[in-house]
Amino acid sequence: MSMPAEKILIIEDEQAIREMIAFHLSRAGYETFEAADCREARHLLTDNRPDLALVDWMLPDISGLELTRQLKREKEYEDLAIIMLTARAEERDKVSGLEGGADDYITKPFSPRELLARIQAVLRRLNVSATEVVSSGVLELDMTGHRVLAGGNEIKLGPTEYRLLHFLMTHSERVYSRAQLLDRVWGANVYVEERTVDVHVRRLRKALTDASADRYIQTVRGAGYRFSTRDV
Ligand code: CA
Repeated sequence: MSMPAEKILIIEDEQAIREMIAFHLSRAGYETFEAADCREARHLLTDNRPDLALVDWMLPDISGLELTRQLKREKEYEDLAIIMLTARAEERDKVSGLEGGADDYITKPFSPRELLARIQAVLRRLNVSATEVVSSGVLELDMTGHRVLAGGNEIKLGPTEYRLLHFLMTHSERVYSRAQLLDRVWGANVYVEERTVDVHVRRLRKALTDASADRYIQTVRGAGYRFSTRDV
């Protein structure tokens, strides 16, 4: 199974620069979205769930640094990688960019090749787990092979159950509401009912029953679901 293209949101008010970046990133195989200010960026973040955001420092509404600070504080964007674009070369600005939570920064003017190299490095660093195996209790999730093993035996899962298990295993010990799971596993621009989550949780538990791993998918009454290998 080939991995879907990684999504990159470009937040830059200078149209020529934004389009130039989008052109090079699309050509490199990334799916791109463009925003000219933070307000527009917020809509695109919610609807498209990008993997990485390129955030220009100077934006017309709020500064790119402030946006970065905000996003890094919000739980739903904890997995979003951020690279700041700055026209300022002073060291103190780079430092405050990184202190604001950016994963890297790049100083204008930059070459497309330099930008691509930074993007690849940041995504690789953040996705180390994507090339590895996550294990918890008797379960092993092999992300490169898209396989789930329980005590060494392969468990067959549908694509939604796989994504759901993947999300829960990589965010274990935390409770997620049905609405949050819909956003994170299905995507915010997909309109399905919350009980759809229950249907897939039920299927997932059924698939895990023989390995006695169904107990890891725990219902937290009135709140949602949690993955935990500890008993309730
Ligand atoms: Ca700007």
